[in-house]
Amino acid sequence: MTQAKHNVVIFLGPPGAGKGTQAERLAQDKDLVKISTGDILRDHVTRGTELGQQVKPILDAGQLVPDEILIALIRDKLAGMDQVRVIFDGFPRTTAQAQELDMLLEELGAPVSAVPLLDVPDDVLIGRIVERGRQASARGEAVRSDDTEEVARRRQEIYREQTQPLIDYYSARGNLYRVNGVGSMDEVYGRIQGGLN
Ligand code: ADP
Repeated sequence: MTQAKHNVVIFLGPPGAGKGTQAERLAQDKDLVKISTGDILRDHVTRGTELGQQVKPILDAGQLVPDEILIALIRDKLAGMDQVRVIFDGFPRTTAQAQELDMLLEELGAPVSAVPLLDVPDDVLIGRIVERGRQASARGEAVRSDDTEEVARRRQEIYREQTQPLIDYYSARGNLYRVNGVGSMDEVYGRIQGGLN
């Protein structure tokens, strides 16, 4: 089998931009493993692990979990892989995380190949998050405890302060590309694929 060109993809974009959904689809198409740090942390909370108990109040408040915890989680995930072929969703979220990830990937000989950035205006984002909570509840599913309007706004603020600097970080490396995240899931996916070349 020929080696695919894109082995390490990082999805950037604010909470509610649709990273998880698009990353999932791309992972299936390209046979990559999706690593969603939000899902991993929520799973720990649900299972009531020690880590889960530690991070639950942080998630509920919409704050960021300490870098050391995230880095250890990612190090663990990557260490267990024969071949590094991954899509990151929700990681890195701070410059410290991005720097650690670069070092880790260098050790593994698998540099970041593409960084799609999903662009969605702020007012659309909050609406989507609140709607996601409403729909989950209508289906009788568990609603994410951080999908309330107040916590969603806090998550947006933290994104602006802590994660937006990563746009410059990856632009400088030349592998970031912007994707208009407004439109149907198929439209947005088409744009993401178009930028991957
Ligand atoms: P969203 O992008 O919609 O905010 P996520 O599922 O990516 O949702 O993240 C949910 C929460 O999990 C975050 O608000 C944060 O508390 C925690 N989290 C996830 N990824 C990270 C990370 N890389 N660094 C710190 N905290 C994280």
